Amino acid sequence: MASSAPLSYSSARAFQECPLRWKFLYIDRLPETPRSYFTFGRVVHSVLEELVRPYVVPGTRRTREGESQRTLDEWGSRGGASGGRPPLTREDLLALYDRAWLSDGYASAEEEERYRTLGRDLLLRYYQRLVREPPRPVAVEEHLEADWEGIPIHGYIDRIDRTPDGGLEVVDYKTSRELGRAEARDSDQLSLYQVLVASNYTEPVERLTLYHLRSLTPHRTPPRSPESLSELNARLGSVVDGIRAEAFEPTPGPQCTRCDFRSRCPEFREVSPEETGRLRTLVDRFEDLRREEHRLEGELRRTAEEMHRAAEDLGVHRLPGSRGVAVRRKEETWQYPPTAIRPVLEAAGLAERLGPGTSEDVRRILRDPGVPAEVRRRLSESGSRRVRWYWELDSEAGGT
Ligand code: SF4
Repeated sequence: MASSAPLSYSSARAFQECPLRWKFLYIDRLPETPRSYFTFGRVVHSVLEELVRPYVVPGTRRTREGESQRTLDEWGSRGGASGGRPPLTREDLLALYDRAWLSDGYASAEEEERYRTLGRDLLLRYYQRLVREPPRPVAVEEHLEADWEGIPIHGYIDRIDRTPDGGLEVVDYKTSRELGRAEARDSDQLSLYQVLVASNYTEPVERLTLYHLRSLTPHRTPPRSPESLSELNARLGSVVDGIRAEAFEPTPGPQCTRCDFRSRCPEFREVSPEETGRLRTLVDRFEDLRREEHRLEGELRRTAEEMHRAAEDLGVHRLPGSRGVAVRRKEETWQYPPTAIRPVLEAAGLAERLGPGTSEDVRRILRDPGVPAEVRRRLSESGSRRVRWYWELDSEAGGT
């Protein structure tokens, strides 16, 4: 059984996209080919971390007992908002960017240079904004863990800011080309971060933000509702169950085009030329049998219908064959739509008797002499009957 290490947003998403790819990544720990957009994002994030860190004034963390570890006042008396580190100058920033730069994953020197220039412009514009409007972060690049109703989760939060009302704003930077408010509204990543921050800080989470770095636009949304969080918790629960059960089936989809493990994946692995001949015969035979199966199913249905008509005409249930007797059987089922049943029971003050509302639940009420006869009559009238005839062969009976 696979161990249940804490789930991160990216790990959960990888499993939901394809459990087999998740296994290659998180159990077999196979490396992936570096990609320019990941490398670029990593470099920009690491520079932003250093740029914003001097402004950090820690928030109030929960301890195991649920109380604070450090207060704002205590922190202020130890040296002010920067915590002793001066903010970076423009020159510091550019030098830091040069040191942090990674060349992995770029298709060409031209592509790398284009990204490098983009990163420099983006960081300089961000820097100007930062100097004009200093942020109020309580943490940057913080690793948080939590037990979310039995599901261990963790994540690195780009930034947690203090809001004007004294609450917290969860901020995730995005270097992508396009980003809108809809992404912030629908982001499972922000939902998970809300849970992590709420579990680790005493101040309330008041905003969730995807920060679009290329346009310096914060896309802000209110925190998620309890219903929305419980729906995400259920989805993560399915991921945890799948991991525990080692249900690592390949799930082909658009993600396959960027999957590094196609050569290991049964969905894409090719059969060797030596095996091809033998397997072709097997597959062709399977296809022939499938066709024959469909033909026989149709013939069987038509024969049974003809026998049924003959039995109706003759008023009998047993038809003789030369090796045995075919016996006609009837199966009846009743269906009671909950939309029709529930109002009747509610009007009689018996709604709690319905339970999950299956046909068997309704039949139990119909059989109950304690339920007024008028209620049972109305319930009974709401039902619809389905009749199915089928044939059995009785070879013991002998034919004619
Ligand atoms: S190629 Fe597609 S189906 Fe196979 S492991 Fe990768 S993502 Fe999954």
